[in-house]
Amino acid sequence: MNANLDVVPMQEWIKTDGKPLIIAGPCSAETEEQVLETANRIKAEGYAHIMRAGVWKPRTRPGSFEGMGEPALKWLVEAKKQTGLPLAIEVATPEHIELALKYGVDVLWIGARTTVNPFNVQDLADALKGVDIPVLVKNPVNPDLALWVGAFERLQGSGIKKLGAIHRGFSNAQEVKYRNSPMWQMAVEMKRLFPQLPIIGDPSHMAGKRSLLMELSQRILDLNYDGMIIETHRDPDAAWSDASQQLTPEALGTMLRELEVRQANYGAEFTDELAAMRAKIDNIDRELMEVLAARMAIVEKLGEYKRDNNVAVLQLDRWKQVHADRAKQASGLGLYPEFVEELFKLVHLESIRKQTEVMSATVA
Ligand code: PEP
Ligand code: MN
Repeated sequence: MNANLDVVPMQEWIKTDGKPLIIAGPCSAETEEQVLETANRIKAEGYAHIMRAGVWKPRTRPGSFEGMGEPALKWLVEAKKQTGLPLAIEVATPEHIELALKYGVDVLWIGARTTVNPFNVQDLADALKGVDIPVLVKNPVNPDLALWVGAFERLQGSGIKKLGAIHRGFSNAQEVKYRNSPMWQMAVEMKRLFPQLPIIGDPSHMAGKRSLLMELSQRILDLNYDGMIIETHRDPDAAWSDASQQLTPEALGTMLRELEVRQANYGAEFTDELAAMRAKIDNIDRELMEVLAARMAIVEKLGEYKRDNNVAVLQLDRWKQVHADRAKQASGLGLYPEFVEELFKLVHLESIRKQTEVMSATVA
C-alpha cells in the first residue's frame, strides 16, 4: 500500500513522561454523579492522562441506551474542572463535533462503526476543516486495513495532523474467545506503514469481559503500543453499557501496576523489521491455535451428536471429501499440497481421538 501521513508526535499534544498513554473512563456518561465520582476515583489512582466517556453511543440494536447527549458534556466539563484531566469522547456526526468543540473537549475519537463508512468519515473530516484537535480513529469493525488507512487520509485532507490509531479488534461471525478478535498483525502493519502514528490498544472492547483484560493489556504493552484506552466505571456491574468489560478505577489501578512495561526498548519492536516480522509470526501462530481450538470445540459437539444418534466416529466418505477439498484449497493458496495433506491427517487423527473420548465418556 502506498500511503503517507504527516503526523505530529503524540508527546506534542499529551505529556506522558515517556510512559504509555492511559485513557480511562466509563463506556458511557450516565449521570452527573456517576461521571464525577468515576472521574475523581480515576484521578485519585493517578494513572490516567485523559478521561474518556461515551456521550452518544452507537448501539447494535435500537432500544438500548444510546447515550445522554449534550447534558453529559456539561458533566464532563465539570469532571475536567475537578480533576484537571483532559477529555476524550466519540463523535459520529458533524453535530457531535460541533457540540464537542463548543464544550472544549480535548480529544475526539471516531468509533469502529463509523470508520467503516467513508461517507460518514468524510462528513467528519469536512466538519474538522481548520480545527486543530487530536483525532483518534478506531479500527473498522471488519479487518480491512485500507478502510482504516482511508479514514486517516480523509482527516489529513482536512489538515488534521494530531492523529492516533485505536486498535479495538475485529468482530467475529461466531462466538470466540474475544468479543472483538485482536488480529495483532493489522496493528503491526499499521505501525510499519506509519511508524510515526501512535497506536493505542483498547483491551476493553477486544475482551468484552473483565477476566481477559490483563492478558490483553500485557500483550499490548509487549508489542510496544503507545498507550491504552480502558473502560472503568464506579459500579461496573450496574453500567448502562458494556457492564461486563468494565472494572472499578481502583481495580484498573491494581491491574496497571501489575503490568510489565518494557520501557527500556520502548518503541523498539515496531521499528525493528526483523522483530516486527517475528511478532507477526507469533501472532499468526497464536491465531492458528485459536482457530484449531475452535475447530476442536465443534468436533467435540459433533462427537456428542454421533454418540447420541449411534453413528460411528469414522465416516470414510466424509474424510475422503475433506481430504480432496483441502488439497484443492491448498494449491489455490499457493501452499505445498503434501504439506497440507500431512497437516490435515494430523488434524483428522486428533478429531478422531477427541470423538472417541466423547463416545467412551458415556460408557464409563
Ligand atoms: C466505545 O469506545 O465505547 C465504543 C463504542 O467502542 P467501539 O467503537 O470500539 O465499538
Ligand atoms: Mn464501550
